[in-house]
Amino acid sequence: MNQNLFAILRDCFPADRSRPAIVQPGGAEISYGELEAAAGRYAAVLRRLGCKPGDRVAVQVDKSVEAVFLYLGCAQAGCVYLPLNVAYTADEVAYFLGDAGPALFVCRPEAEAKLKPVAEGAGVAHLMTLDAGGDGTLAEAARAASPDGAVHEAADDDLAAILYTSGTTGRSKGAMLTHGNLSSNALTLRDLWGFREGDALLHALPIFHVHGLFVALNTSLANGSKIFFLPKFDADEILRLMPQATVMMGVPTFYVRLLQHPGFTKEAAAGMRLFISGSAPLLEETFHEFEQRIGLRILERYGMTEVGMACSNPYEEKPGRERRAGTVGFPLPGVEVRIADSEGRLLGTDEIGVLEMRGPNVFKGYWQMPEKTKEEFRPDGFFISGDLSKIDADGYVHIVGRAKDLVISGGFNVYPKEIELVVDEIPGVGESAIIGLPHPDFGEAVAAVCTRTGGQAVEEAEIIAVCKQKLANFKVPKRVFFVETLPRNTMGKVQKAELRKAFAETFK
Ligand code: ATP
Ligand code: MG
Repeated sequence: MNQNLFAILRDCFPADRSRPAIVQPGGAEISYGELEAAAGRYAAVLRRLGCKPGDRVAVQVDKSVEAVFLYLGCAQAGCVYLPLNVAYTADEVAYFLGDAGPALFVCRPEAEAKLKPVAEGAGVAHLMTLDAGGDGTLAEAARAASPDGAVHEAADDDLAAILYTSGTTGRSKGAMLTHGNLSSNALTLRDLWGFREGDALLHALPIFHVHGLFVALNTSLANGSKIFFLPKFDADEILRLMPQATVMMGVPTFYVRLLQHPGFTKEAAAGMRLFISGSAPLLEETFHEFEQRIGLRILERYGMTEVGMACSNPYEEKPGRERRAGTVGFPLPGVEVRIADSEGRLLGTDEIGVLEMRGPNVFKGYWQMPEKTKEEFRPDGFFISGDLSKIDADGYVHIVGRAKDLVISGGFNVYPKEIELVVDEIPGVGESAIIGLPHPDFGEAVAAVCTRTGGQAVEEAEIIAVCKQKLANFKVPKRVFFVETLPRNTMGKVQKAELRKAFAETFK
């Protein structure tokens, strides 16, 4: 059987192809039949350009249905889809193109003049354009082409995509994802999260990242769902469409912003069966406030570019197996997880170490980085995530922070999350980030960076005093800084490296 992701998704499309697949911002609907034909048109264009199976197609475009057609057309033709964050500058794009060596680069029409020399410098054979409104040279070529229904015969471990990691802890790495990685994750999540006839998804995530591209799109397409496709998160727009939807996937900031909206009420969300959160930790406070207001528990799950989704809180709640704040639940069916120390020794219940995982979702390695790939895998095939975690007595996985964010102060390990939880509870504190700063005596000193809420004048001394009451001395922040907002990227991830840089001189 053909293991091509497109073939597997297409088998799940509704038999009645006139059913809606994607609803565009203005309300125009693309049916499953149109989606299939459009993917065939893009596949035809790729083939005509000479893009062969295995060739990379790099794409830096705004979110649009045309971009989805291109993504599916790539899979169909066996090309490797390589989406890039639209925020990347020409210099950054030069790195990605040089690294990935794509046969085709698709950019926004307005960026073409600037990126042409970049693409040429990287030896890219074809440069084409696509804009949010469905115009550009590639869109025109696709409109003129007739659909090519042939689906490239792909094996389970043939590459379907290269996704670059978000670059939170260093330079982005290209994760090689196979047809099998993506299809297994899509089918597992569809079943695990109870996707059903009549589901409609609110899609306000970007599609250059695993969350919006694979989790949200593939899972919905594998269910034949309707997808409300929005260019960005806008609480008013989400609330307008909510009565027609049943599922939403978002980053934690989406939920914070929805809760700030007076129109977000139990009645407004009456037709919704599921709100899913991921890509960054969901504050326990948000989880509880949401449950109080809406009467539903947000389902938090965990994943990364390299593995797609790996853990999820339960969909079906039972006593002892409910959705729990501050946890990411259990490994997905077919995925194994374990906690180990840096030497690979396995740790017990509640012991903090690095989360390792193995399963059909785990990527093939970093693009053109065989050494790095080798370092990140154990001999028995477990991938070392770099996320500090623990598994509690009930089997729930807790993400405690990143190994790179661990603070070692005076020889003691300080896990930022433990302190963040204490600081976040203090009245007047919005949220906090705990970082380690270079210190002449301790190596690193613990510092807190906080936001204030409700105009309350919470001060440094008070925060330190509360921490002293609740935490061992070596964990207490030596300094507390206040900022308007914590620096975050588009996926809602706090950029701790930026904070460490900003306050680096504090103890020098
Ligand atoms: P880089 O690897 O380049 O430093 P990154 O790890 O931020 O960047 P992604 O692959 O986009 O790039 O993000 C995966 C990471 O996001 C995970 O390793 C984890 O640290 C974090 N993450 C995802 N979901 C959750 C969650 N529910 N709770 C806590 N952290 C999460
Ligand atoms: Mg990472």
